[in-house]
Amino acid sequence: MPLTIAIDGPVGAGKSTISDEVAKRLGILHLDTGAMYRAFGLYALEKGVDPMDEENVCSLCAEGSVQVDVRYEDGKQITLLGGRDVSGLIRTQEAGSAASAVSRYVPVRAMLVRRQQEMAMEQPMLLDGRDIGTVVLPNATAKIFLTASPEVRARRRMLQLREKGDQTPFEEILREVNARDLQDTTRKLTPLRQAEDAVLVDASDMDFEETVQAILAVVEAKHG
Ligand code: C5P
Repeated sequence: MPLTIAIDGPVGAGKSTISDEVAKRLGILHLDTGAMYRAFGLYALEKGVDPMDEENVCSLCAEGSVQVDVRYEDGKQITLLGGRDVSGLIRTQEAGSAASAVSRYVPVRAMLVRRQQEMAMEQPMLLDGRDIGTVVLPNATAKIFLTASPEVRARRRMLQLREKGDQTPFEEILREVNARDLQDTTRKLTPLRQAEDAVLVDASDMDFEETVQAILAVVEAKHG
């Protein structure tokens, strides 16, 4: 099996940007699996199906009805829905909420996990998500559980929102982070949890470069 790196963790831990950088330094591709759930959530919205409507969302999974896929251009992930580039469209709050809803259904997860596993068999890859070390790649070369305290994650989120001119108070953002944590860790199907053989990287007191280095050190220790 090619080199596989699994990075899981809660919302706001910086998984996406950190994963991008680690993959770049290792010269391998990065698969942001959340983008695939977002694309499927977007598909439901475009079809006029309420993402909370399990029966109708699941019928959208019927074979051949939709293709969520990924291709790479100059090492950058392009997320595709039926061959159409939706990389920009999936970055809305609405697509994020739809992703969160549709990711609770068995057929949706089965379909996307299968595709993620196929891709990881084809080339060396770093995958980030919620269930990579536990479900998608139980035999990954290196597994990292990347986290930070709820306060640190809420503060990061607040800075992002302020850049967009959003003045939501810190206390409210912190409440949302805690609510998302509770939802992610207690959902019935593949709740977010650290794989037994994953290395915990708590980035609460680390800057970007220190976090990247901590992960590279884990990879080196496992892979040489
Ligand atoms: O990481 P991101 O916020 O883009 O993911 C969107 C949603 O997709 C998450 O809220 C989560 O519910 C779901 N997801 C998942 N499993 C993954 C990646 C994302 O359930 N491996």
